[in-house]
Amino acid sequence: MSRYTGPSCKKCRKLACKLFLKGTKCYTNCVMDKLASAKKGKGGVKRAKLSEYGVRLYEKQKARFMSGMTEVPFANLFDKASKATGQTGEHFLRYLETRLDNIVKRAGFATSLRTARQLVLHGHIRVNDKLVNIPSYQLKIGDKVAIVGKITDGVVVKQGLEEATKRSLRPSFLEYDDTKKTATLLRWPDRSESSYPVNDQLIVEHYSK
Ligand code: SF4
Repeated sequence: MSRYTGPSCKKCRKLACKLFLKGTKCYTNCVMDKLASAKKGKGGVKRAKLSEYGVRLYEKQKARFMSGMTEVPFANLFDKASKATGQTGEHFLRYLETRLDNIVKRAGFATSLRTARQLVLHGHIRVNDKLVNIPSYQLKIGDKVAIVGKITDGVVVKQGLEEATKRSLRPSFLEYDDTKKTATLLRWPDRSESSYPVNDQLIVEHYSK
């Protein structure tokens, strides 16, 4: 499966929006912040005026870039959400939020989604005590995610755990066990708790056209 391997910051610049793709660096040394400071007093960073179609596309791209997914799996996930009973946008955000890679990030095992995905792909993550190396794996309520092996004491994970604690990044829909390094999905996330600050209705409209 093809995936984007270019610079993450380029995506933020393209959308003129901070997408928080690089973990700690996004808080401490962000090119968008520098750009905003440089343009302070000159109206800030401006986006080109978009057509109605452009507005919907922008919102979809924002969510897709943040998820790190390519177009086809992203559209397939939307399709799955559209078949679920209830509001499509809500289901879609829930599916994005409860992918294994995203939960690994939100538990604090990694500072970015890209690192979280690597942890999953390299077999460092267990779900309910079983190895799962599929980043798109969808968690269910009650599932327990654990990070195991030597990597737990490594710099990458330590940095993630410290950041999560320092910035209070862990959401309340996860129950985190600091001793065992596990996170359990207690309930479905609310819209307000989503990692995706997007207008899901615009994404629904984009795919409905
Ligand atoms: Fe985007 Fe993070 Fe790069 Fe800033 S540092 S431009 S938020 S990826």
